[in-house]
Amino acid sequence: MIIDTTSSWTELDSHVHELKDSFPYWQIWKDIERKPINTFSIAYLVGHGLSLVEDHTFSTLTGAVMTRGDGKAKLWLRRDLAPYKRDVTLFHELAHVHHPIYLSRSNGRFSASAEEENAREAITEWLGRKARADPGLLRLAVLSFGLDAYIYDKSSYRAFQWIKGQQCFSFMDKEYQDTWMD
Ligand SMILES: [Zn+2]
Repeated sequence: MIIDTTSSWTELDSHVHELKDSFPYWQIWKDIERKPINTFSIAYLVGHGLSLVEDHTFSTLTGAVMTRGDGKAKLWLRRDLAPYKRDVTLFHELAHVHHPIYLSRSNGRFSASAEEENAREAITEWLGRKARADPGLLRLAVLSFGLDAYIYDKSSYRAFQWIKGQQCFSFMDKEYQDTWMD
């Protein structure tokens, strides 16, 4: 089975744990511990010029990390993504940016074979979905990049219930009791 961005969370999570067991010496595991995706790291990236553009340009990709003329990174998201898919894609691309050495397509150290490339993408997606599920990170990232805030699950409800307060009533606590990971 090929694990990719369409895989279920259960498949993705068990696959990444298998990778950890099989390749405990990969530097990415240490890098994940040393440089967690948190509010400080996102604020740092935004403060140091990481920007985002939504566009239609590429039809097959949902998101990408691009390099601007000044050498800084720019996130690109396809404009027509559904809210959850947009947020997961945003965090997938942020995970690439957080680990430029071990999770970057442009760096040869982690892209020697198709298997390693698949592993790199699976770890990136795994990190991205976990970070997206944190309401504080979701709120910071969406607002920092000037994106519209959407509520569709428990995390996004917690992230944006005050910002979109007029649309949120107590019954919504029941409606949004699940955190989407798939
Ligand atoms: Zn990727």
